[in-house]
Amino acid sequence: MKIWLKTPLSILAENAENGLVIQDNKIIELVPLGAEPINQIDKIFDASQHVIVPGLINTHHHFYQTLTRACPSAINKELFPWLKALYPIWAGLNPENFRLAVRVALAELLLSGCTTAADHHYVYPKELTDGLDIQVDEARKLGIRMHLTRGSMNLSEKDGGLPPESVVQDKDTILADSEAVVGKFHQHGEGAMTQVALAPCSPFSVTTDIMEETAVLAEKLNVRLHTHLAETEDENNFCLSLYNCRPVDYLENVGWMSNRTWLAHGIHFNEDEILRLGKAGVGIAHCPSSNHLLASGHCLVPELEKAGAPVGLAVDGSASQDCSNLMQEIRQAFFLQRINYGAANITHFDAFRWATEGSAACLGRDDIGKIAVGKQADIAMFKLDELRFSGAGDPLAALVLCGAHKADRVMIAGKWVVEDGQVPGLDIPSLISKHHGEALKLQGLI
Ligand code: ZN
Repeated sequence: MKIWLKTPLSILAENAENGLVIQDNKIIELVPLGAEPINQIDKIFDASQHVIVPGLINTHHHFYQTLTRACPSAINKELFPWLKALYPIWAGLNPENFRLAVRVALAELLLSGCTTAADHHYVYPKELTDGLDIQVDEARKLGIRMHLTRGSMNLSEKDGGLPPESVVQDKDTILADSEAVVGKFHQHGEGAMTQVALAPCSPFSVTTDIMEETAVLAEKLNVRLHTHLAETEDENNFCLSLYNCRPVDYLENVGWMSNRTWLAHGIHFNEDEILRLGKAGVGIAHCPSSNHLLASGHCLVPELEKAGAPVGLAVDGSASQDCSNLMQEIRQAFFLQRINYGAANITHFDAFRWATEGSAACLGRDDIGKIAVGKQADIAMFKLDELRFSGAGDPLAALVLCGAHKADRVMIAGKWVVEDGQVPGLDIPSLISKHHGEALKLQGLI
């Protein structure tokens, strides 16, 4: 079956003004201005009302946090006190509320044009030790490409860390389960729908030996490494007092300074650290909304890219921004970087690049993130039929400038997963009702 997405209103791809042809899970042809496809076409989709962009890629999230949005005990706090307020609540996660949290996050991402989602799951209370199984199950049902990360915490308050004892695990359990979930879920190579990375939570919640041994294990299993780093000045001070070095030095000391690694946030780097990260090819998941909300700081995106570090975009967990809309995050990144670097130096094309090619590079993939022949057929399509777009002259720029937030159509690996602004088969009012009830219960509000 060859389908032609014909003559879009606008498209973020070169020489594809008349659309693209998809066969099975791949893009097989771009159709230039005034041309017809060379391939014999089985089906035509009239895209004349749609702006087509590559499927957006989210590089960092915590799905479970959809249960603690706008949580009264955590609002108006910065990172460390925010975490301390939330850890005891997150200790109440169980398979039922977690499944609903995952479904909400995935549906919200899909409807914002996201086709690949990375999640950093690091909270393992006693009742919920198989969180990744639940994530895979939900992702498969919705048809989204998923980068799971097997997170971990083993440095609790009693050992000088931040989390309470109730949400940490011991080193042997963490390493054994890390290897097991890679074996169970990780698909190598082109077109993978599920991949697994190893992801100790942060320098202030795991021990040095977990960082070191996880890096060795990732190399052995040929999977990627992920963690939070340099999010706040508090973290720099924590590293200096506990390890007598700054976070990037620590990263180097524990064997993580390589292009196998991508980091969430990456804000508080000095010039020399940016050059070292770029030289090593370490990726950065830029989370502008979360960084604003927690008042963490500004990621130096152009400097990092110039140094050679891939930069992707991420909504971060839904307790720190507090939604999962990746299209909105593009607008947020555009504004944040523009105020720092000027209108001529940051364009909507840059913001789209971070959420597509940059994010793909962070996840170590070259088969997604771009509309080009041979790439996976991961596509997001937006209509400009809301009041906010009325009068827009440049349809592609309008997505960012007018604030698009809802995709009309989304395709992943050649299959429609969003049609007419809906996720087929998903009863969203019922999902909201169940999820909201569980969230209020978890927050102790009912
Ligand atoms: Zn995070």
